[in-house]
Amino acid sequence: MSLATIRHQLTALQRLQRARSAQRIPHAYIFEGPDGVGRELLAREWAGVMLCNQPQREPHWHAEYQDSAADWLNRCGRCRSCELITSQAHPDYHLVYRQLNQFHAEAEVRKRKALEMSVDVIRQFVIAEAAKKPMLGRGKVFVIREAELLTTEAQNALLKTLEEPPPGTYLILITTSARALLPTTCSRAHPIPLGLLPEPFVIDHLQQHYPESPVEQLHLAARLQPGSVGQATRVLELGLWDYHLQLGQMLAELSRYDALEAASHLETLAAQLGKKLQQENDERSDSDIARQSTGLLLTLLAGWFRDLLCQQSGAKEIVHNQLSGNALSKIGSIWQCEQIPQVIRTISAAETSMDHNVNRRLMLDDLMIQLARQAPHK
Ligand SMILES: [Zn+2]
Repeated sequence: MSLATIRHQLTALQRLQRARSAQRIPHAYIFEGPDGVGRELLAREWAGVMLCNQPQREPHWHAEYQDSAADWLNRCGRCRSCELITSQAHPDYHLVYRQLNQFHAEAEVRKRKALEMSVDVIRQFVIAEAAKKPMLGRGKVFVIREAELLTTEAQNALLKTLEEPPPGTYLILITTSARALLPTTCSRAHPIPLGLLPEPFVIDHLQQHYPESPVEQLHLAARLQPGSVGQATRVLELGLWDYHLQLGQMLAELSRYDALEAASHLETLAAQLGKKLQQENDERSDSDIARQSTGLLLTLLAGWFRDLLCQQSGAKEIVHNQLSGNALSKIGSIWQCEQIPQVIRTISAAETSMDHNVNRRLMLDDLMIQLARQAPHK
């Protein structure tokens, strides 16, 4: 690995390199961008540059960066520090995440569910660690994952370290939204924006890592979570393809169900998917998991209608396999082209309503009743 392997994040790399070449290298950064676009990878590589014994001008940047990269620094890749970054075992690189509470010195803290990034985790794993000398001598880097979940107390505790860290100490806050952070936190850190990745890049990446998976599954993953390698990978790992097929079958055979039966089927699928989400083991609350599993199903459901719209408007290449194609034809005989935008709006409104703590079963009943009403050829 090297900084040059970070792809399609030109703005982020330009900002990092420009800030570095200015008089005073920032000690704190906010890496802001969607999940799964490489924020942590970039954080580790940038930490590698700051901890490297002999950072060098990189002559072999990828073609997409060559115009910008004349004086960019990269880690040397050969020193002890670089070896340890590569093997993900650098003692001065600290990845801080909310579940670290399980390793906290106090039993009370260990017992808690890690729903947020608590002040206890920040005190023990950032502030106390930053006060110690680096193991290899050059400095320390703290990368805080899901910084949007830092409590106000945790952010206030962190302010002094953000403002005046010990020499050679750097902090990188990783977040999906800097707006979720206090203004006092944001004003002390250098913003680095990361954007979505191009779909062909995501599909290439998936093909390399899942050579056994049928191509239609990779395309579904890349379309369902556009621009995010991490999220598309999660779609594959969760086996959402099976849910996609089951939903397609349900829509194709809607005449066999009454609307409330269909809603009940959706609820069962959401419960099954919820169990898989629980196995991801990141201590979300039960209501969060139920909201996420239902949300993913609604996204899959809407996906069928988007495909239908594409197919009916002539973009047939969107349908990547026979199974989808057959179900899609049946669905197309139930909902006609002119009804589909309204159907998609209905599903989208249902997704949005989940942000307001609605009763999910009632929401699903209502959704399926509306979809059936919008299906004149059922
Ligand atoms: Zn090095």
